[in-house]
Amino acid sequence: MSTTEDKILIIGAGPTGLAIAKALQESEIAYDIYDRSMDVGGIWNIDTPDSPIYESAHMVSSKDKTAFSFHPMPDEYPDYPSHTQVYRYLQDIAETYNVYPHILFNKEVIRAVPQRGLWLIEDHTGTVATYGGLIIATGPYTRPHIPDIAGSYTGRLIHSQSYKSADLLADKRVLIIGNGNSACDIAVDAVHRAQSVDMSIRSGHYILPKYLLEKPTDQVLYDRGDIANRIEKELVQRFLSDMDTIDWPQPKHEIFDRYPVINSHIIDHLKSGDIAVRSAIAHVEEDTVRYTDGTEADYDIIIAATGYEISFPFIHHRHLNWSQGTRPELYLNTFTPWHRNLFVAGMMDAYDLGWDSRYQQGQLIAKVILGTRADTSDSYRFWERTVSDRTRIATADAMESPSKGMLINPLTFEKEIQKLLAINI
Ligand SMILES: Cc1cc2nc3c(=O)[nH]c(=O)nc-3n(C[C@H](O)[C@H](O)[C@H](O)COP(=O)(O)OP(=O)(O)OC[C@H]3O[C@@H](n4cnc5c(N)ncnc54)[C@H](O)[C@@H]3O)c2cc1C
Repeated sequence: MSTTEDKILIIGAGPTGLAIAKALQESEIAYDIYDRSMDVGGIWNIDTPDSPIYESAHMVSSKDKTAFSFHPMPDEYPDYPSHTQVYRYLQDIAETYNVYPHILFNKEVIRAVPQRGLWLIEDHTGTVATYGGLIIATGPYTRPHIPDIAGSYTGRLIHSQSYKSADLLADKRVLIIGNGNSACDIAVDAVHRAQSVDMSIRSGHYILPKYLLEKPTDQVLYDRGDIANRIEKELVQRFLSDMDTIDWPQPKHEIFDRYPVINSHIIDHLKSGDIAVRSAIAHVEEDTVRYTDGTEADYDIIIAATGYEISFPFIHHRHLNWSQGTRPELYLNTFTPWHRNLFVAGMMDAYDLGWDSRYQQGQLIAKVILGTRADTSDSYRFWERTVSDRTRIATADAMESPSKGMLINPLTFEKEIQKLLAINI
């Protein structure tokens, strides 16, 4: 059994794990990273096990709004980089900031158990190591959410996580369940190859184009999660009125309460009849889908683009303050009241939440680790407050969705982190 008790273990070398590593490094905190993949990049490395990225995938947030401010994406990248470009960018970060030497690849954590104030970490080979602290950065997109479908379908049913290319859809009658970003991207992919493309939609998402006023949309709508001024409102209204011309369910939420669909093609395809909108599924029999509005149609393949559930299969829920519901209850989606050396990073999603927030989260974790090690009264107060206030941020800002624990209010989140970074802990 190897001993690494003075080190922190980060699980995951995606954008979050890399940002956390850089922050620990700057605070001179020794760490290792385990990743089950063969390289950094998380989902953006299409070869990462269970990566939900497909060949046509580009970012839906613009590069300038997403990239770490300490390391902008290259000028020659387009506004919405492809997954390969994002992967290269993340490799470049790992190289530039000397993170690679700390990473052990092809190492999947299957168990993390606390023991006498340390963490015993078991990997898929059965090897156990002991660490002084644990930071979970395994990403929000690991366990696909599959909806209950009444009846039995004899065609092929997959989750969008396993969709890689439109080759799968050639000459097929395709049904996509859902209407988020992946659903719309896959529908647009399918239009060029499939025999027919339907989308089953229960409640609508807002659709925005990739550009407004010739600028990336998220750079025009700059006021974090709100449409700030009159011109923006008019612009968005003009575009949203386009949605009224298509057979698309009216969204029931406010525009930025969920991640809007950022897609410049889907509306045209809907208007020209390349994609048909269907209601929710009532029942399935053999290859026939019956809808709640009484219509029915036959399909060769169904793709459930129905999102993900938060899952940390290697650690008992109780350590994460997760007694019920779909997510752990963590102060700032980061700190558990039960362990002062256990942290969750990157359990967040919101429109206009750039990757800098992950780096700031890393700076805060580093600060808390140092304070806890020094056992200061400020640190004691921080943990006491975390314990007493532990659900405030998490519950106040989570939105209703299958993956609701990831959706946060970026304004509250960043403000709270900034406040904590400015005081002694
Ligand atoms: C189709 C799609 C498009 C997206 N587009 C955008 C976008 O445009 N802009 C944006 O900001 N976000 C986007 N996202 C969100 C995306 O999740 C984030 O960009 C980012 O990848 C999250 O980084 P992460 O490091 O937290 O997680 P991940 O990228 O998921 O990385 C997690 C890492 O943990 C490793 N890991 C997991 N479990 C274990 C284990 N048990 N042991 C060891 N290693 C493990 C994995 O191998 C992986 O490398 C998109 C997501 C999807 C699905």
